[in-house]
Amino acid sequence: MIVGVLGLQGAFREHLTVLGSLGLASRTVTRPEHLDGLDSIILPGGESSAMVRIAAGTGLFPALRARIHTGLPVFGTCAGLILLADRLTDDSLEGFDRLGGLDVTVSRNAYGRQRESFCAPVAMTGDDADFPATFIRAPQIVGLGEGVEVLGTHAGTPVLVRQGTVWGASFHPELGTDARVHEGFLHSLGASVQRGIVASRAPRRG
Ligand code: GLN
Repeated sequence: MIVGVLGLQGAFREHLTVLGSLGLASRTVTRPEHLDGLDSIILPGGESSAMVRIAAGTGLFPALRARIHTGLPVFGTCAGLILLADRLTDDSLEGFDRLGGLDVTVSRNAYGRQRESFCAPVAMTGDDADFPATFIRAPQIVGLGEGVEVLGTHAGTPVLVRQGTVWGASFHPELGTDARVHEGFLHSLGASVQRGIVASRAPRRG
């Protein structure tokens, strides 16, 4: 399995590191031809307004959107979630080509500014151990379409969701030492992964 990581801007190197720790082949994607032969793709966190500007005119987003719509599994984290969301609550990216494909409504920067970034436990569906999540100028998922499943919550709000093979997270699962979120995405695609960067785990609840 080859996993692409959108490499226009943001925390793409950290995702590549996690994928390497899981024993998977990966590739940085910056041009349409980099999509050839990919089995899935991760859209990293960073700054969505920079990503849409850098992508403009390259043909990458139209090609990527077509691949996603024909079944390429995709996981958008933070800014990547903003690219994937079918609806945003504000018009700040109006006029720019985004991707869409995940039936959620997202509010950009709803968790506050850079200095209000925080780490918090995320309660994971089907896992007793919380995930230690990093939120940086994070987008909030404020609406879910019918086919969207909640896989993780923070303070009662969905922060990790999936709609079939399209996954989204408000936080940065690639920061830290816990690879369970990547493992969950990749396992759902049938990938066999070795034990990833897991040096410590959040305390068990209850
Ligand atoms: N606030 C950023 C944006 O709107 C996302 C922040 C992040 O990816 N850490 O793109």
